[in-house]
Amino acid sequence: MSERMRKPKAIIVGGSIAGISCAKALILAGWDVVVIEKTRGPPTGNPTGAGIALHPLSQKIVKSWLHQPDLLHNITLPLTIDQNRAVDREKNICRVLARDENFNYLQAHWTDLHSLIYNTLPPEIFFWGHLYLTFCISHDKSTVTVKAKNLKTDEVIDIAGDLLVAADGSRSSVRQTFLPDSKLRYTGYCAWRGVFDFSENENSETIQGIRKAYPTLGNGVHMDLASGTYTVLDELMYKRLNWIWFISQPELQLKGDSATMKVSSDMIKKMHQEAEKIWVPEFEE
Ligand SMILES: Cc1cc2nc3c(=O)[nH]c(=O)nc-3n(C[C@H](O)[C@H](O)[C@H](O)COP(=O)(O)OP(=O)(O)OC[C@H]3O[C@@H](n4cnc5c(N)ncnc54)[C@H](O)[C@@H]3O)c2cc1C
Repeated sequence: MSERMRKPKAIIVGGSIAGISCAKALILAGWDVVVIEKTRGPPTGNPTGAGIALHPLSQKIVKSWLHQPDLLHNITLPLTIDQNRAVDREKNICRVLARDENFNYLQAHWTDLHSLIYNTLPPEIFFWGHLYLTFCISHDKSTVTVKAKNLKTDEVIDIAGDLLVAADGSRSSVRQTFLPDSKLRYTGYCAWRGVFDFSENENSETIQGIRKAYPTLGNGVHMDLASGTYTVLDELMYKRLNWIWFISQPELQLKGDSATMKVSSDMIKKMHQEAEKIWVPEFEE
């Protein structure tokens, strides 16, 4: 094939939401694409993922990628109400601060959204279990070669392309090489978060209590605020609750390139004690 006829080739580092979305967009724009991802395979049923709220524009784009656009609605719940409240547990008061009833978002579980997009892509473009190491740009700056290590065999491979996309997350190694002076800025808060699966006990007292305390669950996102802290609570498809508890605090020292940390039972105990002081009893439970 002549050079003019050759499709341009993109090398995407990172096969998470950003990486696969970029792969989809580039393929539709006529590019050849490879995705280098260090994890061993596509995430399936990963319980650690959390909720991802899709803005109307994201909904439109994701739908345009699907053979059956309605599939997006099979994995999401509508977030039509966005309600913020101030909570004072001591005085037993909850005051609505703001309520938007035209909040046109959809809420998905991270893994469900990933699978939906991933299933529209040719599986052969993925280099699973490959760790990006370095890249170098040709003298005429027209091509880029990436080195990646197969984590199973330790073999190092070279992949040449026309474009390198850094979709390797907030602690991107590609960015560290390319922009070594660009440092991350701490936002000022950390968060506890989790997904609570209640599919086995949907009529339990806990679930009935939480539905009463948070009436918009199922079609809205609930934000409770107290001094220096707030929570976000919403429902996900397939009987799951997505909860996050943000706390303003000094930056934690994290290990390696992780954005999360291992916690001890002592930290969890303290979290429960704090929840008891701050939040409504249904959230605390
Ligand atoms: C604890 C936590 C909770 C969060 N909760 C939410 C939430 O509830 N809702 C929400 O919208 N967002 C949440 N986020 C933000 C979330 O990270 C983003 O929504 C989204 O996952 C970012 O996608 P991404 O593709 O840019 O990056 P990431 O998801 O971070 O993906 C980066 C990918 O690159 C791969 N990678 C990294 N380095 C290399 C390498 N050297 N070689 C090969 N592969 C590499 C990683 O394995 C990973 O798959 C949360 C983040 C954290 C840390």
